[in-house]
Amino acid sequence: MIYSPVTTLTNGAIIFLDRDGVLIEDNGLVLDESQLAILPGVPEALSALKERFRLVVVSNQAVVARGLLDEIQVRDLQKALEKRLTSVGAPPLDGFYFCPHHPRATLEAYRVDCDCRKPRPGLLFRAAEELSLDLTGSFMVGDRPTDILAGTRAGCRTVWVKTGQHDAALIETSETLDALPRADFVCSGLLESSRWILEQA
Ligand SMILES: [Mg+2]
Ligand SMILES: [Zn+2]
Repeated sequence: MIYSPVTTLTNGAIIFLDRDGVLIEDNGLVLDESQLAILPGVPEALSALKERFRLVVVSNQAVVARGLLDEIQVRDLQKALEKRLTSVGAPPLDGFYFCPHHPRATLEAYRVDCDCRKPRPGLLFRAAEELSLDLTGSFMVGDRPTDILAGTRAGCRTVWVKTGQHDAALIETSETLDALPRADFVCSGLLESSRWILEQA
């Protein structure tokens, strides 16, 4: 008997993407679109992943808490990035969620012990709920251990890309992190991540 492949598997799942160190180079704070440098292989990887998944960026944007950019400027920067991505062959992305808070924010309004600053999984939960998507078949791709922890906490499989800042000191969080989880896959960048993810899916 010949079994036909299941064709309806993963249309309802998400690839959560960290921004800096996954889509663009992480060279410190990005305040202006002239600083957006797309990493090699990213457009191809996004195109391949888009066939099976929704693509959602989840980013800590402490620049807002520090008063360096406002939320509208962060969204404008994302629009500029997405425009640049599509101009080099990437598909449109499905969502952009960011945490503007920081435990020691300069601006009092953002000095919040929030549930959305990674490694907390609030951004991932919010995206899944708003887009009516399923977390269990989803993946989180990030370059820092706090991305991996956020993905694990949301019930996603995780990919750790070693693009430069992967060994940097842990970012400041509202909680003490003793044990960080191991990623399900470790590789050099988003293109390699996409190949592994599509093998799993
Ligand atoms: Mg990053
Ligand atoms: Zn937050």
